[in-house]
Amino acid sequence: MADEIKAVPTVVIPVDPQQPQADIIERAASLLRAGELVVFPTETVYGLGGDALREEAARRIFAAKGRPFTDPLIVHIAQIEELETVAAAVPERARRLAEVFWPGPLTLILPRGRRVPTLVTAGLETVAVRMPSHPVARALIRAAGRPIAAPSANRFKHVSPTTAQHALADLGGRVPLILDGGPTPVGVESTVVDVAAPAPRILRPGGTSLEALREVLPEIEPPLPPQTTASNDPESEEGPAQRSPGQLLVHYSPIVPLLLFEGEDEAQRKALVAEALRRLGRGERVGILAAVEDREALRPCEERGVLVRAPASLEEPEKVAAALFATLRALEEAGVNVILCRSFRPVGLGLAVQDRLRRAAGGRIIQVDPSADAAEGVR
Ligand code: AMP
Ligand code: MG
Repeated sequence: MADEIKAVPTVVIPVDPQQPQADIIERAASLLRAGELVVFPTETVYGLGGDALREEAARRIFAAKGRPFTDPLIVHIAQIEELETVAAAVPERARRLAEVFWPGPLTLILPRGRRVPTLVTAGLETVAVRMPSHPVARALIRAAGRPIAAPSANRFKHVSPTTAQHALADLGGRVPLILDGGPTPVGVESTVVDVAAPAPRILRPGGTSLEALREVLPEIEPPLPPQTTASNDPESEEGPAQRSPGQLLVHYSPIVPLLLFEGEDEAQRKALVAEALRRLGRGERVGILAAVEDREALRPCEERGVLVRAPASLEEPEKVAAALFATLRALEEAGVNVILCRSFRPVGLGLAVQDRLRRAAGGRIIQVDPSADAAEGVR
């Protein structure tokens, strides 16, 4: 784990998300050029950026997040020419994906260029590279004049930030500057694709859908189910599986426990209501994350004090993704003891939503049985 850091005052500066003001961008870029850190909006989530070619900046990133050095960072570029600086080679299929999906929420795993310190790649001979589309991110990387390493701007294991306020809550006192460009539009992290492997595979589902990727590379493999053990060790018995390092099952965890219900819709609703009422009866404060379609069924819970958040419809996975992390944080901040959560279909961005919720549940997944009146209670 990275060492403790000295407290610094954090300044939050609002910036126009469409036409970022040049003087604000320059102020942030000069910090990056000096090896300091800046939190900035991307189209996925807020990033904690530092000079990707300077080991000392990477060290600061790990320290500010409290992130272990085994978890590699994504390197962000503003123009395609910078790819030659950070990657030693760019396979043909990587170029095809980049042409279609960059700038945008897609990260490609490529052979590491020699100028990228191995601290950035957690000792790997590959590097994760992405070209973000958010105007603030693009302007900042361009003005800094160098590739920027940027993981999500949250404390290690917490939910990724989709607003500057989320980033401030996690990293206030640990970074000098946060650029506030409002809520991030995509709301989940980028899709990570390993294009170096013989069979290209999604390592982490995210803001670019499997369906869209397959239109360009039909042979692309879906992600493997999340690891259930905490081992990132390539020598472990599992072997160097095609999993993204740092993708532990509990990677995205809200501070309060989350129980995820899976199964047929009506059975999920019944099970959510039964579990919420059972816990209310024990004096717990219960939050529910649901879909617009569940509202009616959940009204009896709501009337008895359960906090129900239903940010979007089951038919709109993009809206669910955009609201997901902010909703988890809002339930946390409301002081609930537990979050009961419905599942969303793994279609389009729903695949990323499913992945983040399963990780947030950390194994607490309840399969509901449509024939039963209500799910078995969970202890
Ligand atoms: P985040 O910190 O949220 O930006 O997530 C970065 C993720 O990118 C890591 O957790 C890894 O899963 C993935 N990643 C970064 N570098 C590599 C790499 N060289 N090989 C495979 N996955 C990587
Ligand atoms: Mg992260």
